[in-house]
Amino acid sequence: MSIERRVQLVENLFYKLEQENAQFEKSSGLSCVSGCGKCCKSPDIEASPLEFLPWAFHLFLNGKAEKMLRTLNKTHSPTCLIYKPLSVIDNKGRCSDYKYRGLICRLFGFAANTDKYGNLRLATCKIIKEGQANKYKSTNEAITKGLYVPVFTEYYMQLNQIDFNLGTIILPINKALKMALEEVLHYYAYRPFPDLEKKVF
Ligand code: SF4
Repeated sequence: MSIERRVQLVENLFYKLEQENAQFEKSSGLSCVSGCGKCCKSPDIEASPLEFLPWAFHLFLNGKAEKMLRTLNKTHSPTCLIYKPLSVIDNKGRCSDYKYRGLICRLFGFAANTDKYGNLRLATCKIIKEGQANKYKSTNEAITKGLYVPVFTEYYMQLNQIDFNLGTIILPINKALKMALEEVLHYYAYRPFPDLEKKVF
């Protein structure tokens, strides 16, 4: 399948999740603290290259893919390279490419995992769990009674159906970014620059 088609399918999946997230945020009342970005600073974020294919393709279209790949090759930091600190004083920061963030970034905080008893549990950060404790508790109760919540495994299964190889490899986030860029750059090494006016297959 072409890069353009895979990008389109991943973006369609993100669009579906966006709709579900908006509905879930509305019914739960939960929300991120403005300008927080703390979860992005975790050194343990893992992702698949496929969820960053739209990001890599976007950089490629803008002539920035090679430069970013060189930066990724040089970095030894485990923190996501897309994260940009805003202030050292209050420790705040943000995603510098929010529109093209990965699936994990879109799910974390507003999606559920299945616990060892087979129940869905909201996977979110300590800041939300403690700062919005009542809403967090009532949302988990509502989920057990049937409130719809996006589920990590279901979304990753849908992602894998687009490209099993790139969707099932789970890597530290900077390695996933690097592999997504390499996929796009290798693909176009011997192909013409994509014509976005043409129908995508
Ligand atoms: S891609 Fe953006 S939202 Fe995802 S971890 Fe990196 S900085 Fe955070």
